[in-house]
Amino acid sequence: MFDAVLIEKSDSGQEAGLSRIDTAQLPQGDVLVEVAWSTLNYKDALAITGASPVVRSFSMVPGIDFAGVVAESSHSDFEPGDRVVLNGWGVGERHWGGLAAKARVSGDWLVPLPEGISHRNAMAIGTAGYTAMLCVMALERNGVLPGGGEVVVTGAAGGVGSIATMLLAARGYSVAAVTGRTAETDYLTGLGATIIIDRAEFMQVGRPLAKERWAGAIDVAGGVVLANVLASMRYRGVVAACGLAGGMELPATVAPFILRAVTLVGIDSVMCPKLERLIVWQRLAHEVDMARLEAMTTEVQLGDVIAAAPRFLEGKVRGRILVPINPQ
Ligand code: NAP
Repeated sequence: MFDAVLIEKSDSGQEAGLSRIDTAQLPQGDVLVEVAWSTLNYKDALAITGASPVVRSFSMVPGIDFAGVVAESSHSDFEPGDRVVLNGWGVGERHWGGLAAKARVSGDWLVPLPEGISHRNAMAIGTAGYTAMLCVMALERNGVLPGGGEVVVTGAAGGVGSIATMLLAARGYSVAAVTGRTAETDYLTGLGATIIIDRAEFMQVGRPLAKERWAGAIDVAGGVVLANVLASMRYRGVVAACGLAGGMELPATVAPFILRAVTLVGIDSVMCPKLERLIVWQRLAHEVDMARLEAMTTEVQLGDVIAAAPRFLEGKVRGRILVPINPQ
């Protein structure tokens, strides 16, 4: 038996609690992983609180990512003792996830942990950092390069935003960080942001086109914030949009697209093909400044994740939250 967060649903709604689970209860899969570290992401908070219908079947162990060691495998790519990381593929939504001491999954979903990166650091990066790298790569692919003008990052003090700020600055981009928490200015300049902008400037629906400011953008907010980012992109600017922390709607016009040739790139981490994942994790292993990463992490014990989850929805989480499970 081992500990797991379990979300159950009844007629009166859903409820999350800490449970004892037997290995035999785990879902089908060809690899059994002993989870070393997991983490909390915005989506885990939606799943645990039920604020949004993230969980597709009940009972569910949440946790959209984990790093650990293979305990049993009938998959040709993995054998016991291999260090692995997993994020996405519906884990923690449709298939039991990483907020448990063990997980049984498809080996096709696992990525070998690159040399030189610990389980703990892999989860300090987690889905947030992996998504931030997908955004950076989308900007690069579309011609936004260091020295080509400022890149704006929204939700900069959150998980994706913090790592995006750090990755961009480390590659030599000039980064403008938009935050609702200007008290985090020192934190954000410590990650490499050169300008801190109060999110309040982005919260009113503005004109279809505003002053041209940004060559690139990484947006975790969606909603009116994304609409205002789009309106203030420079000619041929590129926006990588990955989140909805500020809302699902997009009160924008087509003006930035048809008058300034702005590109809006959608980013999805969940179903991203394995080949791209391998590249992303290799780049993260080489490009993340582990000391800066450490400065943005806090730890929450497995038994405390249910209490911690609502802080995401209140916009109160700074950086990344790690969950030690079988630390190694
Ligand atoms: P997080 O740590 O909670 O960060 C979100 C940040 O957004 C907050 O820290 C806050 O930063 C800002 N924010 C909060 N409320 C806001 C509002 N009403 N309007 C505008 N900004 C607001 O969450 P995360 O794990 O980084 O995830 C961020 C978003 O990306 C979420 O929507 C998540 O679902 C999404 N995401 C998507 C993918 C994908 O595959 N597409 C992958 C990972 C995450 P400041 O206080 O600095 O403003």
